[in-house]
Amino acid sequence: MSALKVHNLYRYFGPLKAVNGVDFEIPHGSVCGFVGANGAGKTTTMRILATLDYPTLGSAEVCGHDVVQQPAEVRRLIGWMPDHFGNYEHMTVLEYLDFYARALGYKGQERRQRVEEVMEFTDLVPLAERFSNKLSKGMTQRLGLGRALLHDPQVLIMDEPAAGLDPKARVELKHLIRVLAQEGKTIFISSHILSELGEMCDSLLFINNGRIVHHGDAESLKRGTDGVGGSLFDVQVDGDPQAVSDWCVLQPNVEFVEARKHGGRIRIPGDDPAAAADLLSRMVREGLRVIEFHREQRNLEDAFIDILGRIDAGLDPVAPPPLPPQIPAAAPPANQEPT
Ligand code: ATP
Repeated sequence: MSALKVHNLYRYFGPLKAVNGVDFEIPHGSVCGFVGANGAGKTTTMRILATLDYPTLGSAEVCGHDVVQQPAEVRRLIGWMPDHFGNYEHMTVLEYLDFYARALGYKGQERRQRVEEVMEFTDLVPLAERFSNKLSKGMTQRLGLGRALLHDPQVLIMDEPAAGLDPKARVELKHLIRVLAQEGKTIFISSHILSELGEMCDSLLFINNGRIVHHGDAESLKRGTDGVGGSLFDVQVDGDPQAVSDWCVLQPNVEFVEARKHGGRIRIPGDDPAAAADLLSRMVREGLRVIEFHREQRNLEDAFIDILGRIDAGLDPVAPPPLPPQIPAAAPPANQEPT
């Protein structure tokens, strides 16, 4: 059984198809990054998983529990960290966490212990008496994470937790996420900072216009082994650097991507090492005086843009939604936060 399972999920806001036929599964104990442009449908999907909104059609499960049919079970299993959350004026960090621990039903010594544990984990002990609305962005995010962890959830859903953090605060947050992943928690995290997601996620889920356009691990995406983007090489030559682009123009399967000081960046389809070896030997045989030839990693931004470019060009059409949704009666907005 997967930790998260989303099947044929739709969420329409009037005519707007915010989530438009989404399917994915995330195994237990893995970290999955949820990537997409502004308005792509990340928050809407996450809010449905967090039992804060209802799907127009389709289903979403957390550890086998349906978010619509069994919201109380789901809320026990998840920790939800929204992109924005309000702090209470005149409530210290300690009082804030204690308040939520009470709301969760913890009592006496157990409550004090839970609050103490999350404060230690999120390094909030020195800030215990600080008013919660007077914290920096990084401290506020740690407080939000502490709140989400109070009931020791199995699954953590984090919407843009790194947004607005300075580099040091981002490193701290990344460290905390890594520790939680090592403890075996399933973490579903959205972010625009793709390079950071790549470092800490087992898989990346790309969403565009409410549709999943790719699900794969970061390394294969960067290399292009998922059949997207091909393989990139940096080629440097002795002599006229333009010799590289001139040579590429004559090759049917070699794309000259960009000029560089001593040659250029080139691309061939696929991921076959034998093709790379052939490429190099052909270059040398045909007179290019190659002094450097090495494979380059694409970064995740390259990969994402490649995927979107191929979809726009009709090369990787996204499968049509499996069912034309019958729009049911408007789902009642769930305005309660999960406990
Ligand atoms: P961002 O990265 O900017 O947070 P996102 O990928 O999280 O974007 P969503 O917040 O899920 O995107 O929004 C998807 C689309 O649905 C957007 O066009 C948004 O304006 C719209 N939308 C979201 N919530 C509502 C709502 N309650 N009513 C109407 N439209 C909404």
